Amino acid sequence: MIQTKFVVVVGGVISGVGKGVTTASLGKIIQEYGYRTTLIKVDPYLNYDAGTMRPTMHGEVWVTKDGGEIDQDLGTYERFMDLDIPKHNNITTGQIYKTVIDRERRGEYDGQDVKFIPHIPDEIIRRIKLAADGYEVAIIEIGGTVGDYENKPFLFAVRALERQLGKGHVAYVLVVYLPVPEHIGEMKTKPAQQAVKLLNEEGISPDFIVCRSKYAIDDQRKRIIELYANVESDCVIAAPDIETIYQIPLDLEDAGIGKKVLSRIGLEPKREPDWSRWQQLVNVIKAPKETLRVAIVGKYLATGDYTLVDSYVSIQQALIHACAANELGLSISWIDASALQTLDGCAQGLEVYDGIIVPGGFGQTGVEGKINTIACARKKNIPYLGLCYGMQLAAVEFARNVCGLQGAHTTEVDPETLYPIIDILAVQKQLLEQGNFGGSMRLGAYKATLKKGSAVYAWYNQAQWLGEDATVAERHRHRYEVNPLFVPVLEKAGLVFSGYHERVDGTKLMEFLELPNHPFFIATQAHPEFTSRFGKPNPLFHGFVMACKKRKDTLAQASCGVDVNPALFQAAVPLETLAS
Ligand code: GLN
Repeated sequence: MIQTKFVVVVGGVISGVGKGVTTASLGKIIQEYGYRTTLIKVDPYLNYDAGTMRPTMHGEVWVTKDGGEIDQDLGTYERFMDLDIPKHNNITTGQIYKTVIDRERRGEYDGQDVKFIPHIPDEIIRRIKLAADGYEVAIIEIGGTVGDYENKPFLFAVRALERQLGKGHVAYVLVVYLPVPEHIGEMKTKPAQQAVKLLNEEGISPDFIVCRSKYAIDDQRKRIIELYANVESDCVIAAPDIETIYQIPLDLEDAGIGKKVLSRIGLEPKREPDWSRWQQLVNVIKAPKETLRVAIVGKYLATGDYTLVDSYVSIQQALIHACAANELGLSISWIDASALQTLDGCAQGLEVYDGIIVPGGFGQTGVEGKINTIACARKKNIPYLGLCYGMQLAAVEFARNVCGLQGAHTTEVDPETLYPIIDILAVQKQLLEQGNFGGSMRLGAYKATLKKGSAVYAWYNQAQWLGEDATVAERHRHRYEVNPLFVPVLEKAGLVFSGYHERVDGTKLMEFLELPNHPFFIATQAHPEFTSRFGKPNPLFHGFVMACKKRKDTLAQASCGVDVNPALFQAAVPLETLAS
């Protein structure tokens, strides 16, 4: 049996300090040294998972291959590590307490008093070991900030785990923030010192301190932290703000963190890392020769700690991956669909873009604006990629404007429509009636059989993503489906359904659609953004980006650039760099 070694990442001073990216980067580094590595995220909230959380408050809900609805940090992990991370790698306080209480109700504690110590840490450790099973190194990110009441049980548990395993099996990394107050103009280390002290109070001394800050921490301040935290010299590591998160593993490696962490947990490098391809992609992101302009027309509501962009972080990343791999830069305009609601037919200003995406979504806000957008992309030959809701509404647009089915809709928005192009399946209706909202979702990876000769088939085939019998598995998170009754009607009018999933009862669920006489009009019921990785873009995003580039080149040749109508795009906000 493999004895897993653990690295625990904790945050200090403020939240949103970049623990997720630091954890993902460390994982990537250790993996590059030849170790089978996995990443675990602890979320100290009482929700069982992130499925019922509002994306505008908490950022995107990440969907794992096995159907978990998880905190977006797991997405960062997968994108950096090129690894499918299962849902049990996300541990929440809710899961811990629910398991312990359920076990108590079943009488499995044999009449004992069920107490915080030992039962809660025991359950935390059991789950950590389960997630780490079979891996040589597991990196555990503890959500929240040291000193939070909620993450104490987890700090207690990792310390108990270390006691079980013995010294040399667990390393601790504290990620702190060093503010530079504007009125002083000087970097301050005191909050970081206090974070060290708070961690010490939990019986933990950090082995490494990663210093997030506007600019790199200087040697003088490094020494103060070294002394205060009593860490070895060279274990305080600068992590200043950078242009792209993918630069972080390179910077951490420049500081030699990989070998130091390995040595702390008693391991030798198995091989020398090769960062050349990674570095190449980072260079493209930092200094692209040519930049594509993509419009993402969605529903944007900014509340809480998160920016609107956080709700579509995986799409943004999937585009970055596809662009970088094709030596292209990316500029995204986030356009609020509600601003396009009243436009008749084609929303002219959209023509300025090299491509348009309508992302996933729920409910009726902005729906007509999204449909107008899709009509514009279809008629004006603008590359279009529809994701989940973006596919459902593409089918609705086609039904209305090409098949002439007036008032065609999804029953999610208009339950009384005469033409329910998108509807809920009977089995799912039953679950909804029982109030089981989570259970009524199609979640996780589903296999689709692709139509040979279709564009979707060609893109997946070219990237060698196809499994046996022309199948591909992408992840899902939705309730509604293309209504099988309307498939022949839409097909007759020229819409091609290029892939389907066959349920055990024989029902075929439409997974992909496309328009044959269009430069790129592809939409999918799935979320292909969840399988895109840095250095391995998803084939549909790759295809979309290639089509965008073609359009850009043609437009440039014809020199018929269209100006953005400022009134129309008031709602557009600039691309923001990611905080975490
Ligand atoms: N609201 C749609 C559904 O539930 C689409 C969901 C999505 O885009 N993720 O089916």
